[in-house]
Amino acid sequence: MGSPYTGRFAPSPTGLLHAGSLVAALASWLDARAHAGRWLVRIEDVDTPRCVPGADQAILQQLAACGLLPDGPVLWQSQRGEYYAAALQTLVDQGWAYPCGCSRKEIESAQAVARHSAAVYPGTCRQGLRGKPARAWRLNVQAVQAALGLPAVTHWRDRRLGPQQQNVSQEVGDFVLRRADGLWAYQLAVVVDDAAQGITHVVRGQDLADNTARQIVLQRALGLPTPQYLHTPLVMAANGEKLSKQNGAQALNLQTPQAVLAALNAAAQVLGLSAAPAHLAPTQALALWTGQLRGKAPP
Ligand code: GLU
Repeated sequence: MGSPYTGRFAPSPTGLLHAGSLVAALASWLDARAHAGRWLVRIEDVDTPRCVPGADQAILQQLAACGLLPDGPVLWQSQRGEYYAAALQTLVDQGWAYPCGCSRKEIESAQAVARHSAAVYPGTCRQGLRGKPARAWRLNVQAVQAALGLPAVTHWRDRRLGPQQQNVSQEVGDFVLRRADGLWAYQLAVVVDDAAQGITHVVRGQDLADNTARQIVLQRALGLPTPQYLHTPLVMAANGEKLSKQNGAQALNLQTPQAVLAALNAAAQVLGLSAAPAHLAPTQALALWTGQLRGKAPP
């Protein structure tokens, strides 16, 4: 019998792991272990212009140095275009995806007229391209919701943040599935791959929480199951933003077992776990935290 829990860590190889990304890696690994589940790694390298050559292997080595070893084969999104194409075709066949010919400029000026917030696509090409060449592909959110009898407001429950809701159509609009540059959009790739890998529990950084309602609508449209979600606290940079390479995050120092333990301890602290004593090996620290998490009733 397969485990009822499969989790994952899905880094984008835009650089090495830093103190912020280690929190999501550690949290997803510990949650899987605490549930006696499996933990998989997926390299999210669809946004090729942002990917750094070699960063994928370097990230896998960093994870291994921390004792975070995947329980199955690593998936590279760059090798999965045929599955994303098949998913898009399914949506097109249903009449739920349409080509969009709008340039960024056109979308912005339409928004200014309609007084939408900056991120909302006003649905200009929903009724057809009107002679414009197709650029991106978008999901017709309202068509999906109407056809499937889904409410306009998507409700979901985060295991840490509690009840969440979003009116995707109003707050985001018909979002992109395939970008104007031909690259697959994160939303489509993540939904197809979470299902392909049998992911039952998504544990990731809180900056991604806002994507969840879109992903749930897409899961419904494709007839795929919805995992449970837990969004972890973010590590902040000195300027008050989420820690990232852009605001000075350093690659983790994992040169010695002591350095690995220090990095893991810092991540564990963000997760509200107690620091592992300095004499422990990294794998012993992981076992300690797994025990601590098992002790708490899983939500
Ligand atoms: N690849 C995304 C990132 O590194 C994570 C996506 C996810 O966990 O859903 O930010």
